[in-house]
Amino acid sequence: MSSTHFDIAIIGAGAAGLHLALAMRDEPFFQEKRILILEKTAKDQNDRTFCFWEKGDGKWNKLLRQTWSQGDFFSAERAIPLSLPPYRYNMLRAIDFYEFAKREIATSPNFHWQNEDVKSVEHGDPIRISGQQGSYLADYVFDSRIPEDFFKKNDKYTRLLQHFKGWVIRTPDDQFDPERFTLMDFRLLWPGSTSFTYVLPLNKREALVEFTLFSPELLKDGDYDRMLHRYVSDILKLREFDIVEQEQGVIPMSDFPFEKYSKGNHVRIGTGGGWVKPSTGYSFKNCERNSRKIVENMKAGRPANQGLIPYKFRFYDALFLDVLNRQNELGPKLFEIMYAKYSVQQIFAYLDDQTSFAEDLGIMVGFPWPPFLKSLVKHVTR
Ligand SMILES: Cc1cc2nc3c(=O)[nH]c(=O)nc-3n(C[C@H](O)[C@H](O)[C@H](O)COP(=O)(O)OP(=O)(O)OC[C@H]3O[C@@H](n4cnc5c(N)ncnc54)[C@H](O)[C@@H]3O)c2cc1C
Repeated sequence: MSSTHFDIAIIGAGAAGLHLALAMRDEPFFQEKRILILEKTAKDQNDRTFCFWEKGDGKWNKLLRQTWSQGDFFSAERAIPLSLPPYRYNMLRAIDFYEFAKREIATSPNFHWQNEDVKSVEHGDPIRISGQQGSYLADYVFDSRIPEDFFKKNDKYTRLLQHFKGWVIRTPDDQFDPERFTLMDFRLLWPGSTSFTYVLPLNKREALVEFTLFSPELLKDGDYDRMLHRYVSDILKLREFDIVEQEQGVIPMSDFPFEKYSKGNHVRIGTGGGWVKPSTGYSFKNCERNSRKIVENMKAGRPANQGLIPYKFRFYDALFLDVLNRQNELGPKLFEIMYAKYSVQQIFAYLDDQTSFAEDLGIMVGFPWPPFLKSLVKHVTR
């Protein structure tokens, strides 16, 4: 084996790449494997906040910035209190996750971290990876780059964007209840759109307030700030506050078949592997779950990516995205129906792709049929 020949290469040390590296590090089967991580940035910035729900104590508890078991959902018409147990809603700063993962990897002698901007992956046995600094051979490649075809947009797939801007605000006196968060608040809408704000209190005087849209087009930069200003002054009724941190992001919400771009031992992971839940934009827990599945598959001698994509839920998500794409203004009503009719536990289980067909039907009957029927016909005929 040459010095640049590895058993496994992971391209991208983001959420997916680091979850996978940690899952391999925790599994004795991989102790003898030489594992290369290729990452083009230093991963030393807090470039996002990961929120996710889980039952009871989880793997990341020690790293959490905040956690809540009580929350609220607001539509224009009503407030719905959410009592989460046995779930908790957790907030993890990306930088804490990156630093933890980097520390763990640095103490594992079979891992090698290389700063590299990967340009191409050539299939063969072994697979050849070419980057700005050099080339590398590996028997397995896990690749978090997004396939270029996704950006071409001339196909039959729906592409919505989850786009958002958030401020961490600080008030001079106590204004927040750190035990209670706002999951979704539809009282302030960007006209004709699926848009909402969420509020994650960090303590009595600080909260992350984020204005979010699920829609086809981005807003102008100043528009996000204007909506945040209106929310903080009109809904939270705060007169005095400082903005101490900001975050902005765009997450693809799509039924594009990312996983088809995996070939043999070259496996797409993360956003580029279709691990973002199309209807919600969440993927942190999917990265953890799928990394565990890859590890189990490799140990059992199965194809590494076997069983990663829950096709039944992908189909439901495709219908939901199609409805929002055609009638974006319906979103607030659909979410209100969901949180008014079903318990948050039922909703989280459904969004975690954990419900049976009978349970799915139980949830679907509560929604207005005509827009979904139209999407169903479109999908069946295409
Ligand atoms: C601002 C923001 C907030 C989010 N909040 C949440 C949340 O609260 N909950 C949730 O579940 N999800 C959230 N998401 C969605 C999702 O969890 C993240 O986007 C997640 O980081 C996706 O993981 P990934 O590994 O696919 O991509 P990334 O985490 O973006 O990692 C990709 C990595 O690959 C590297 N890379 C890319 N190209 C190359 C190359 N050519 N060569 C070498 N390295 C390369 C990048 O530098 C990066 O480090 C959020 C996303 C954003 C943008």
